[in-house]
Amino acid sequence: MANPFKTFMLTELLLGLSVTARSLFRRKVTVQYPEEKTPQSVRFRGLHALRRYANGEERCIACKLCEVVCPALAITIDSDVAADGTRRTTRYDIDLFKCIYCGFCEEACPVDAIVETRIHEYHMEHRGENIMNKDKLLAVGERYEAMIAADKSADARYR
Ligand code: SF4
Ligand code: SF4
Repeated sequence: MANPFKTFMLTELLLGLSVTARSLFRRKVTVQYPEEKTPQSVRFRGLHALRRYANGEERCIACKLCEVVCPALAITIDSDVAADGTRRTTRYDIDLFKCIYCGFCEEACPVDAIVETRIHEYHMEHRGENIMNKDKLLAVGERYEAMIAADKSADARYR
């Protein structure tokens, strides 16, 4: 029950204002995003990418382990045998609206083909842009391969 004396003297209000007054002189912890950014782990799980080997060959061998392990059923893969006899994906889609960024696909991949990059600043403006198809995933991989490779090797050192 409220204390009438405390209510009359505005004690609780003054207590609250004293917290505000103390905070005025403390070191500020607010990050001025996007100019300032907090540190990111090498294991940060952001936008997906498909990687190639240094000779340009696609790493993915269409084993579909990532599709099977995905708890959100966000990955859809179709595959076929390429002219050189290797198994390749003809379709590799990730629905970013379904994805929960768990990283299971990356963990399951035997050839480090599908990875989650540190990229988290992306957005969609049109219907359907939530589907990352094979071309888009490969393009992300090509653009950020240096960062992905560095993160992979740093992560290996922690294990
Ligand atoms: S991060 Fe998780 S939810 Fe997203 S595609 Fe990979 S396995 Fe599926
Ligand atoms: S990305 Fe990896 S796990 Fe998924 S189909 Fe390709 S090789 Fe298999």
